[in-house]
Amino acid sequence: MSNAASLRCRECGRDYPLAAIHVCDFCFGPLEVRYDYERVKRNVSRQSIENGPTSLWRYREFLPCDSDEPIDIGAGFTPLLRAKNLGKALGLNNLYIKNDTANPTWSFKDRVVSIAATRARELGYEKLACASTGNLANSVSAHAAASGMSAVVFIPEDLEAAKVLGSSIYAPTLVKVRGNYDAVNRLCAELAGSYNWGFVNVNVRPYYSEGSKTLGFEVAEQLGWRAPDHCVVPIASGSLFVKIRKGLEELAQVGLIDEPKTRMSGAQASGCSPVAAAWEAGSLNFRPQRPKTIAKSLAIGNPADGYYSLVQLRETNGSCGNVSDDEIIEGMKLLAETEGVFAETAGGVTVASLKQLVDRGDIHPDETTVAFITGAGFKTADAVVESLAPPLVVDATMESFENAFNEPQPVGANA
Ligand SMILES: *Cc1c(COP(=O)(O)O)cnc(C)c1O
Ligand SMILES: [Zn+2]
Repeated sequence: MSNAASLRCRECGRDYPLAAIHVCDFCFGPLEVRYDYERVKRNVSRQSIENGPTSLWRYREFLPCDSDEPIDIGAGFTPLLRAKNLGKALGLNNLYIKNDTANPTWSFKDRVVSIAATRARELGYEKLACASTGNLANSVSAHAAASGMSAVVFIPEDLEAAKVLGSSIYAPTLVKVRGNYDAVNRLCAELAGSYNWGFVNVNVRPYYSEGSKTLGFEVAEQLGWRAPDHCVVPIASGSLFVKIRKGLEELAQVGLIDEPKTRMSGAQASGCSPVAAAWEAGSLNFRPQRPKTIAKSLAIGNPADGYYSLVQLRETNGSCGNVSDDEIIEGMKLLAETEGVFAETAGGVTVASLKQLVDRGDIHPDETTVAFITGAGFKTADAVVESLAPPLVVDATMESFENAFNEPQPVGANA
């Protein structure tokens, strides 16, 4: 049995059984998994975690699943890279990159899905479903395939071709909805009322969101069991942003690290920046937006955890980046050229925001800072392909090569 004790309303504190429910009947607040931390404390040590599997399931004592055989296709335990070159370019002395492009379907969504799928199966569901901005659909499709469950995944119609392919290959029922993500999400909320399916980010959402905590656990473990001083995290629904901190706090709660004083900063694209805009206005209440940005995986105009993200920015003395599409492309290129990591547009948002925060003086150069790179670049290749230098084309002769090689190099087709 897991160490989960109940689902608890974040607003009024009422407890609910560990079922497929996600809102409080009394106040409509979101439900969150609550654990018996005394029991967790008895069951874990740094050593027991270090001896565990090289996936997020090494932290299973902190996860809400009972099964001895979770649906594990290798999500998590991704590299934490000491980013000296990028740090130097930006003026940061202690910068790290958490490279979550290294997940089985190339985004951090494998973390939340591994847990949601395992819990959905425990709750008796035979079919998985989701409302997705793209990466989630890929991950749900893959985990369903590997576990023998079937999947129905819903995506907005304007998605990148690679993100459509990245679902189709696992043979789910793939549904393109005419509209943006917020429309997809509304439809799925309605369907979840009539179909007995495990919608990972609707009725199973309290379990799903626990997956993001594992990024906090890993970073602390990989830093030698200490919390970073500053995290920079892309915000779509805001769940990832809020849960990384919950992960750090849980480690402290059971005595595995000291009390974290981590500053939590967000990253959004200007074309979909409800949290960043409210932050700049000094408000805890965001106004929903109609997204228009190349960072499609972050294009949620009405973020479920927007309010909690704003509270967290305030509580931790964080800040929030708000970057243009051009800056996103520059961010993708800078990360690739300095660290050898090819991130999708969301990674460009993180790197461009990191730069913005440093330039504004919101990150101190000596802070141990972790930038979260949450998805891989081949899924959003169209965003950068036009701004890269084309290859040299030569005949198979020394002369032809040397002529081409000694020509002044174009810096980039659009430069
Ligand atoms: C979904 C997603 C996020 C953010 O997730 P939220 O928890 O909804 O804020 C960040 N990066 C990528 C690549 C994503 O797919
Ligand atoms: Zn409540």
